[in-house]
Amino acid sequence: MDTTTIDPTDLVGRGNRVGADMFRNWFSELSDVAERGERSAYVFVMGSLNEVLKSFDMPVTFPEINSLQTAIRRVAHEYLEEAEDVGYSPDICGYVKADVALQLRGGQHPMGTIPKPSMAVFTNACNTYIKWAEIWERMYGIPIFTLDVPGTRQAGVVTLPGEKRFENDRRYVESQIRELITLCEEVTGKKFDIDKLRETMRHTNEVSISWERLLELNKSTPSIFNALTDGTVYLGVANGFRGTPEGTKYFQDLVQEMEYKAANGIGTLTDEQYRLIFVGVPCYPIFRRFNEIFTEAGGTFVNSTYLWFASGGTNRGYQYDLSDPIASLAEGLLFSVRDAMDSMFHQYAMVREMAQDYAIDGVVFHPIKSCRTVSTGLADSRRALMEETGIPSLFIESDMMDRRVVSEAQLKNRIDAFFEGLESRRNKGIRGGGI
Ligand code: SF4
Repeated sequence: MDTTTIDPTDLVGRGNRVGADMFRNWFSELSDVAERGERSAYVFVMGSLNEVLKSFDMPVTFPEINSLQTAIRRVAHEYLEEAEDVGYSPDICGYVKADVALQLRGGQHPMGTIPKPSMAVFTNACNTYIKWAEIWERMYGIPIFTLDVPGTRQAGVVTLPGEKRFENDRRYVESQIRELITLCEEVTGKKFDIDKLRETMRHTNEVSISWERLLELNKSTPSIFNALTDGTVYLGVANGFRGTPEGTKYFQDLVQEMEYKAANGIGTLTDEQYRLIFVGVPCYPIFRRFNEIFTEAGGTFVNSTYLWFASGGTNRGYQYDLSDPIASLAEGLLFSVRDAMDSMFHQYAMVREMAQDYAIDGVVFHPIKSCRTVSTGLADSRRALMEETGIPSLFIESDMMDRRVVSEAQLKNRIDAFFEGLESRRNKGIRGGGI
């Protein structure tokens, strides 16, 4: 892309500025929906089906994003305690509890007012999604829709389009999408328009191709964005604006920014010392500080499993065939959501794939108390990775919502010791794990 006519001071950092603005506007539009007494579809990041819902012009809410925003804005504990007061266990997913309190508060959120649901659409990517949606079903009597996406059946065996087993699964997903379309017609009172669906899918294609390119560009040395902090802003836009012209433009501009940074050697750190991969869900209660503990030691996150699974598998850059939208939507969902599940449940395989391309020095595993889906098995993943590759790794525990189990001092001690180990290896002339 031509960047010769653009002022670099406008270009560098534009993605973060514009992304933050888009999110503020997004919450403000949701507040308008709530104020008018209208409702929105509640969806989740792994298989949001935004393409179908947007083709019915439905406002869409992502409860996971609402919840994590309460932690970033340092009020999550108030919401968690309110949900625990009405009987929700301290051990369950913190996102669910923050949402329950939000519903009990009539949608009151630090960024606006969240409308009540008209329906909920979710996949089986996380079992919590299903129980969570049942809460809204009980509270509001709304229809809830589970899209059952067949996962990988056997380690290392990925079925592909054209193969009999894949095609059977694709037909199964397609029949469910047709049921969802009928449900959307009933909820909205509107007739399904296949050309509108095609248009939202065309925009998703643009976002997917840009998302894949973005991740690819961070192989540059120095790395041009931080997968943990900047990446979370990009991820929010990729989910919230999937299937929209705003999403397409944002990501085309973002790729332009990152290509410029890569071409001009503009790194996210002025002195990048250690390239790291992050595994798990971020520590939102001390989001900026958590990252600073790494960057102060010259470490930066070049990629993360979060950017893979929480984008619903968009990292694979799947392109819908617009000549046969419903069949292709089914294929894309199967391909991408299955990949997202693999990125959560088989993190070792994904990290191994990333490690080959990103010239990494270490891996940070971050299991969290209240997301068993992502955290279970991380200790085994770490052991397997170290045995096979020798890549140094750090295993630190905290939470994505609950500040009561986040100890900054303890985290810092462990992180400092990790960097001392990396430095000592470097002094001996050892980098990465040699794969
Ligand atoms: S993946 Fe984890 S954080 Fe997300 S809904 Fe499931 S249990 Fe909660």
